[in-house]
Amino acid sequence: MKTIECKAPAKVNYRLDVLRRRPDGYHDLRMIMQRIDLCDDIRISLSENPGVRVACGKEGVPDGPGNIAWRAADALLKLSGRCTGIDISIVKNIPVAAGLGGGSSDCASVLMGVNELLELHLTDEQLMEAGSKLGADVPFFIFKKTALAEGIGDKLAAVEAAPAWLVIVNPNLAVSTAWVYQNLQLTAGKDEYIIPRFYGSVADICAILANDLEKVTIGKFPVIDQIKQKLLQVGAAGSLMSGSGSTVFGVFAEEANARKVAEKLSLESDWFVAAVKTL
Ligand code: ATP
Repeated sequence: MKTIECKAPAKVNYRLDVLRRRPDGYHDLRMIMQRIDLCDDIRISLSENPGVRVACGKEGVPDGPGNIAWRAADALLKLSGRCTGIDISIVKNIPVAAGLGGGSSDCASVLMGVNELLELHLTDEQLMEAGSKLGADVPFFIFKKTALAEGIGDKLAAVEAAPAWLVIVNPNLAVSTAWVYQNLQLTAGKDEYIIPRFYGSVADICAILANDLEKVTIGKFPVIDQIKQKLLQVGAAGSLMSGSGSTVFGVFAEEANARKVAEKLSLESDWFVAAVKTL
């Protein structure tokens, strides 16, 4: 039976402004989102045994229907009206509940992979529409470009950002995104800030680094601020928490410096540390 193997990349937020709470309980956001080459490995196979099966085997990530990748395959299988089986295996390399968008990226990869395997010929726009019903960050991973994301994160415009090396540090803490938004105190006056669409250098990227969710997550986990300070001390041009945390990244222009810092931090701590390139 036909099989597809794909890589589902993580993301970081160079910027995350929470503009306002919406009547439906979600928040209007303004984010700059960047994919990185830290990826989950996904294998999708058609089978004669009808239905969707997902095997992941990672603590904190459900197998079966609780997995967002299962819901992606199930949605397209229903849409196709076909009576086939889809077997998905996921090797999680992206830390879970870490602000790196791993679940959303797995979901997007499965939508694109099943579209190909079942020869559904859905356009990226149609896949993004299907993805937005599964998770707010899913369309971004189908968009496949650095993006200004607005609305709940699903209204996307391409931005140009210079390539950079990032040192990703996760202190092995899972953070609930819902908890962070519930504990957020909103401040007014964000709309006037015009966010650039072009970042020609690492310095341009570092000039906009800001995340409204940092205060909430750092309030509960002060180690996140310690990691930010540490990354700056060892030479990062800028440092920020990604999404709702708990991952922090430091920005570097040079690969060699990023690798040196990643090696040093992984020797000094039991944190998850990786030097990665932007995509
Ligand atoms: P979000 O902001 O969307 O919560 P995140 O990057 O902080 O994203 P994820 O790693 O996507 O966090 O995980 C969020 C939750 O989704 C986890 O608690 C996990 O149990 C659940 N989940 C379901 N499917 C997956 C998947 N394929 N990969 C990771 N987590 C998944």
